[in-house]
Amino acid sequence: DDSFDEECDYLFKSVLVGDSAVGKSNLLSRFARDQFQFDSKPTIGVEFAYKNIRVGDKLIKAQIWDTAGQERFRAITSSYYRGALGALLVYDITRRTTFENLRKWLHELREYGNSDMVIVLVGNKSDLSNSSRQVNIEDGQSLAQVEGLSFLETSAMENLNVEEAFLQMINKIHEVVS
Ligand code: GDP
Ligand code: MG
Repeated sequence: DDSFDEECDYLFKSVLVGDSAVGKSNLLSRFARDQFQFDSKPTIGVEFAYKNIRVGDKLIKAQIWDTAGQERFRAITSSYYRGALGALLVYDITRRTTFENLRKWLHELREYGNSDMVIVLVGNKSDLSNSSRQVNIEDGQSLAQVEGLSFLETSAMENLNVEEAFLQMINKIHEVVS
């Protein structure tokens, strides 16, 4: 909802990063609009979404940028990261390569992003945990610990931990800036 602009105390830009098809766009649509798409439609992705969140007595307007499919072509530009205070760094627990590629994404975040950017590591598709898990929860936890990140497993499909992931990021940004 864009109608509270004047009343907002803060505008926080944050970004979604991670390999193609890990579920970035669905995490955002779940959080912003409570919607989920079974098909992946990268080319018609929105560029960003807004959500107003109250933290204590402050109203925060969270502006969350999605890649609109550019990650497929390794064409994410520095302007995507510019001014971002937070990032959800997403992998797919059913595809090991998406976890291995986190190094590359972390490198990019640290190269282009703010030095005190809040990064939340997200292992998405936890609904497929029993049938096709390729990344143990401990692997996510230990990478997060080594890199100093928060960590959660989510399911955009079943709406598990999605709000928690975004709110953790937004609350931590609020702690950093206030
Ligand atoms: P993006 O390329 O990272 O933006 O990924 P998308 O959001 O487009 O999702 C890629 C595919 O994974 C789509 O077919 C989604 O329906 C599916 N997907 C996304 N999140 C989940 C989830 O939590 N569980 C399952 N089972 N599928 C998901
Ligand atoms: Mg997408």
